[in-house]
Amino acid sequence: MNRKEIIQQLIQELTLEEKAGLCSGLDFWHTKPVERLGIPSVMVTDGPHGLRKQKQGNDNLGLFDSVPATCFPSAAGLAGSWDRELINKVGIALGKECQAEDVAVLLGPGANIKRSPLCGRNFEYFSEDPFLSSELAASHISGVQSQGVGTSLKHFAANNQEHRRMSTNAVVDERTLREIYLASFEGAVKKSQPWTVMCSYNQVNGEFASENKTLLTDILKDQWGHEGFVVTDWGAINERVQGLEAGLELEMPSSNGEGDKKIVEAITNGSLSEEVLDSAVERLLTVIYMAVDQKRENATYDQEEHHELARKVASECMVLLKNQDNILPLKKDGKLAVVGAFAKHSRYQGGGSSHVVPTKLDSVFDEMKKLAEEAEVNYADGYKLDSDEIDEELIFEAKELASQSDVTVIFAGLPDRYESEGYDRTHLRIPTNHQRLIEAVATVQKNVIVVLSNGAPVEMPWLGKVKGLLEGYLGGQAFGGAVADVLFGAVNPSGKLAETFPEKLSDNPSYLNFPGEGDTVEYKEGIFVGYRYYDTKEVKPLFPFGYGISYTTFEYTGITVDKKELMDNESVDVHVTVKNTGDLFGKEVIQLYVRDLESTVSRPLKELKAFEKVALQPGEETTVTFTLDKRSFAYYNVQLQEWHVETGEFKLLVGKSSADILLSETVKVESTISLPISFSRTSIIGDIMEHPAAGPILQETLAEVNKNSEMMEAIEGDQSEIMMAMMRYMPLRALVSFNESFTEKILANLLEKLNEAVSQVISSK
Ligand code: BGC
Repeated sequence: MNRKEIIQQLIQELTLEEKAGLCSGLDFWHTKPVERLGIPSVMVTDGPHGLRKQKQGNDNLGLFDSVPATCFPSAAGLAGSWDRELINKVGIALGKECQAEDVAVLLGPGANIKRSPLCGRNFEYFSEDPFLSSELAASHISGVQSQGVGTSLKHFAANNQEHRRMSTNAVVDERTLREIYLASFEGAVKKSQPWTVMCSYNQVNGEFASENKTLLTDILKDQWGHEGFVVTDWGAINERVQGLEAGLELEMPSSNGEGDKKIVEAITNGSLSEEVLDSAVERLLTVIYMAVDQKRENATYDQEEHHELARKVASECMVLLKNQDNILPLKKDGKLAVVGAFAKHSRYQGGGSSHVVPTKLDSVFDEMKKLAEEAEVNYADGYKLDSDEIDEELIFEAKELASQSDVTVIFAGLPDRYESEGYDRTHLRIPTNHQRLIEAVATVQKNVIVVLSNGAPVEMPWLGKVKGLLEGYLGGQAFGGAVADVLFGAVNPSGKLAETFPEKLSDNPSYLNFPGEGDTVEYKEGIFVGYRYYDTKEVKPLFPFGYGISYTTFEYTGITVDKKELMDNESVDVHVTVKNTGDLFGKEVIQLYVRDLESTVSRPLKELKAFEKVALQPGEETTVTFTLDKRSFAYYNVQLQEWHVETGEFKLLVGKSSADILLSETVKVESTISLPISFSRTSIIGDIMEHPAAGPILQETLAEVNKNSEMMEAIEGDQSEIMMAMMRYMPLRALVSFNESFTEKILANLLEKLNEAVSQVISSK
């Protein structure tokens, strides 16, 4: 018997109670075994960027100790790399650590969209852009799963804030859901088949995600073809039976048998079909046995090797945002002042369920000293770690030190208490003592570089006072070594922002509707999330989406397409050539955005549809090929319940960031679908006139009706144009009121002719 047959047989042999029992956890981290039939219990554990396998106690807040594991940069940082391969490697390493610790499923990655920079959990999410987010999540998932360990793509869906996260109702229109919030999960599910998907705590359009059939069954299972099971976020179950019917297989952590009892009751009293339970058990056992079959006995991993990987990864994630007078890379001699308590106690990960106990931890200061052997490297605290209060003495010391140095590097950002799972920020400022330190040091030293450690954007009123700015994100346990590598030029920075940094909080599109009122949050900005808004609304951000500089320079030298015209069921190849024109080896992220030049629906100015990171030696040139398909040009048509491309021209925009487009081409895409159209008494004259088949029919009828009208004859020149403009928004039925020759009978005949003509156009397509 193969595995599928064995599972079928097990389902036959399991009692009703045993089957219901499999649908909830044994404890915080394990599925239930059925010893009688040899069904094992497997372990699931957080995630996403390091393993949090608890040693003792059961909590999901990271209060108890967990076994040491490699802490990689969190998703916000990883996304800065825009590097699928690199994130895949992180996934592989995580998978190996799971095997070594006997963990069957790693609870991550998170693919929620960064709707507001305030969301306390943004550090665990990749991007404001669904394409980038889903591509990177897919790489993470396939890396972990290549090691025979499952993932849990989370938190499905519309969990874009921590504020009232277990009760709030995200009210999102369907097009926005599909194009932004679901698309971020869709690509990852279709590409990488995560073994499990974790539903979110919140409600989506009035229904808890844990019992939302549209989300869990219609979309996830039926439309996207997800083969694994859905697990609740910890404690996200509302009504167990409703959840099961909606497609929620596993309740975690457990409800001490309460949920199981409800399932048994519902089946016994006939309100729930046993088939629903059987198919849930089939999905559960399939994943459990995938883990069992791929379990590697006595697996180990090399902690030192993983630490080195964490260092490499962190250095590829950092984003160089400012480098005035080429202040970076730093020289390895002279006098260097390192200021800010983060340099000795780095902020390298976020708080909550993703909190990892690292296998080892780099100190930024020590690593900088190691790399700059010839230099005199001194340190001052500058601020206290555990408070926002300005300590004048520490500021004074820092200024003294800075004034005696050639260059000062300040480590600042957001302390642990500023961002975590469980709550959102209320502003975008860094602590006052960090800000004061930067401003004070800048009064005595003109060569200041700021290195930020934070999980999400901050405001930077002090930016004009410093020459260098490196966004370090939450760089994981090897952040210290990585930052030293980048500052001294051992690694040329190549990260790009996966999110917009606004000038100020109120510029953010969700500002007026975040975090909502009471338990309702309305996503009123619709599809205009992140750069889609800043671009279209012409609001200049502090740093745009996709931005990041290098120690070398790149020239974008050519763009060609393999066809200028295509049908929407065909694809087009776009070749882009880029050259390293500087003196250093470097990496560049080539970004391709698409703009619909003319559209009847509201669309952003441009949307990211392809990207690739390339590595180039000085003088080297390379050509990358992007393939664009229907989805690259489509919007989600709610009426069709389908992705739809409007026939017309699209501009392909290639550049270094969303705001720095260097090459472009235009292609024409023709739709294979015509939208169903029918006209009625209330259809307006302008719409009918614009339709190629209907317009001439209406014109002919009007000419016929007005043939003997003295009034119409008297109208000439300008007047007739004005008349037509006024008629444009008039419904057909109004002709009966305004024109005595236009009878109800003529109207009925006209409608019949019009609808026949438009239906012929559709069927001939
Ligand atoms: C978090 C999840 C996490 C789970 C288990 C929840 O509070 O939202 O992301 O996987 O706890 O720790």
